[in-house]
Amino acid sequence: MVMYSPGRTTSYPSEPIEKGFRFHFLGGGDEVGNVGCILEDETGTKLLLDYGMAPTDPPRYPNESPNIENCILTHSHIDHIGMAPWLSSNYGTLLHCTGLTKMIVEPMWHDCYKVSRIEGYPLAWDKRDLDEALVNLRPHSFNEEIKLLDWKWRFLRAGHIPGAAMTYIETPKKKILFSGDFDTRDCELVSGAKTVDCDILFIEGTYANRNHPKKEEEQQRFLDRVLEVVERNGTCLVPAFANGRTQDVLMLLHRTNPQLNVHIDGMGKRLVKMYLEHNEYLRDKDALTAALSWAKKVGSKSDKKKALNADVIITTSGMLNGGPSIWYLNRLRNDLRNAILLTGYQAEGTGGRMLLEKKQVPIFGNISPINLEVDQYSFSTHAGQKELIEFVEGCNPKDVIIYHTNSAEARPSLEKILSEKGFTVHCPKNGETYHIID
Ligand SMILES: [Zn+2]
Repeated sequence: MVMYSPGRTTSYPSEPIEKGFRFHFLGGGDEVGNVGCILEDETGTKLLLDYGMAPTDPPRYPNESPNIENCILTHSHIDHIGMAPWLSSNYGTLLHCTGLTKMIVEPMWHDCYKVSRIEGYPLAWDKRDLDEALVNLRPHSFNEEIKLLDWKWRFLRAGHIPGAAMTYIETPKKKILFSGDFDTRDCELVSGAKTVDCDILFIEGTYANRNHPKKEEEQQRFLDRVLEVVERNGTCLVPAFANGRTQDVLMLLHRTNPQLNVHIDGMGKRLVKMYLEHNEYLRDKDALTAALSWAKKVGSKSDKKKALNADVIITTSGMLNGGPSIWYLNRLRNDLRNAILLTGYQAEGTGGRMLLEKKQVPIFGNISPINLEVDQYSFSTHAGQKELIEFVEGCNPKDVIIYHTNSAEARPSLEKILSEKGFTVHCPKNGETYHIID
């Protein structure tokens, strides 16, 4: 159990920097998710980028943050914002984010709190902390210039999910870009990120060693399977994350197969309304509006029963870890005409991973065999290796820091490629301090 006691256990050095620039990952340096990174230079100006947790089983938390006045939340996924209520309520830290992220963090934190109760894992913050953090949120638009002592910084579009931002910082000596989770490819919801000239580039390396299949081909493989299941009078259960994937899949189905009968359930229904309230972050707000009014929104128990006859049900949890997807799976699992189409990565210890490895899933406390057809699709909105290399070349920095990555398998491959191209590559570990001196 991790219970922080402020000022005692942080790994961040307390002495100021004599010269240059330093960075220190409290989390997310050599792992995926769980991000928290402190940047500081010789002027004493500093920023924390993200303060998340990894909702794995058991969850992982970043090292304790020192007292810090300003934190940027790059986007509203829980592995980037999960510990921000603790931070903000303890130190009064201002939480800077885009307007849409400001809106979405509230339901995301509430959901995180609820899940921690259900799963019985410790969380270092409670509802009171959450309320205090909400007061400390500071929204900013893309390209709005914000002054912070000797620095100025702004948000740039990151792709990934609506409201996700890269952070571009100008210090007296360096131009720094912190990618956050990003993708240069367009998806249904958002347009991809663009390169920007910088000296130091922090780049997420979720897919540092892998290339994505061609997007159109992967989408077609998914749609072909949907039509095949519908043809045999089955229902496709599509477990999808609430924040991004649910809406991406919904828009894809609406754009390509408007004849289908598609129901959506779970938190994604609520988030899509927030996306539409901040539609400046969307690639095509009219397409999302149309897809949403086309879909059947499940609101009640009787709606849930009706959805059992749908062609497609899109719902949370995306990893078959509780939520409506388990309720549907329990009802659909005995009719072999039905199928499960997974749309994302299935983490260790989740129902989805168990399904892939053992053809069984915990349903309301019982490990239950699942004989339905199961398929998995790569609808990631993280840049793949090819996009990462092109992005680094486009930004043309001197120093590249690869973080948010599997340090044993994924990172070495990208490190090698970028080093051979002449970039100075840094591979940070959590809890260690690194310096860049001109
Ligand atoms: Zn993310």
